[in-house]
Amino acid sequence: MKERYSINLCPICNHSSFKHFLNVPDWLVSKEVFELKQCEKCQFVFTANAPLESEAGPYYNSEEYVEHSDTSSGLIYSIYHVARRVMLNFKYLKIKRLRTGKKLLDVGSGSGYFMNFMKKKGYEVTGVEISEKAANLCENNFGIKAHSPTEFVQGKLDTNYNIISLWHVFEHVYDYDTYFELFSKSLDEKGYLILALPNNDSPDAKMYQEFWGGYDTPRHIWHFTPKTIELFADKRGFKIVKKHRMPLDPFFNAMIGDSYKEKFTFLPITFLKGLYSYIVSLLNIEKSSSIIYIFQKKT
Ligand SMILES: [Zn+2]
Repeated sequence: MKERYSINLCPICNHSSFKHFLNVPDWLVSKEVFELKQCEKCQFVFTANAPLESEAGPYYNSEEYVEHSDTSSGLIYSIYHVARRVMLNFKYLKIKRLRTGKKLLDVGSGSGYFMNFMKKKGYEVTGVEISEKAANLCENNFGIKAHSPTEFVQGKLDTNYNIISLWHVFEHVYDYDTYFELFSKSLDEKGYLILALPNNDSPDAKMYQEFWGGYDTPRHIWHFTPKTIELFADKRGFKIVKKHRMPLDPFFNAMIGDSYKEKFTFLPITFLKGLYSYIVSLLNIEKSSSIIYIFQKKT
């Protein structure tokens, strides 16, 4: 039996009794089944038997792991790459609206598309990326060098950032307290912390259950809802100031879910499932498939 990353106390409320929530296979890489557990006090959901951080590398070894892949093949991935272009502009407009300075740190910068887009808009960008392959792509394609997480954790990066962004990254982070300390230290007084996270309180999560793309076990350790991330951040000195829905994610998650179910044969039904979730999110942002949370330090 391999040693696992065990969570004995809830990272939000320090409670120690958890109940079974859902078994979720690793659809992309290992096909191993992972158990999600839920804190009985604050309802926070996490992957209870994720690999140790030192053994997590192989679980990211997939050509299909689109977050780090730069190849465009197959319908889902073609759509993903078009969606990426739409979302780059969407993210830029949300950041522009904050009317703050232009010094930006992107943690989990991947192959650098977001940094490159923001650099072209006049932002001074710095990246942190764990995958050497992605960091090399970033440097070769855009001439932007990303730092390693080790440099970040050792406090070797600059401070006084106006914006720190993590786009679908924080749910992967083992060392959550160190990261939050660094966010606090690295942001200027009025700086913004932007976390984009899947939301398992969305209709598409409820519809797809263990097939839901937002669980992505064991790579996703933390499965936040608006309630739990706001409590989590509050405990670590950050207050929520704004939330945005990510409009394409319900459609993307419906496609992923149906592809895991091998029912991706009738596209209109998949589209309608995504559309249903999107419409629900228009009525209540707390039910969005993925949410962009914007935090500031509490004063
Ligand atoms: Zn709890």
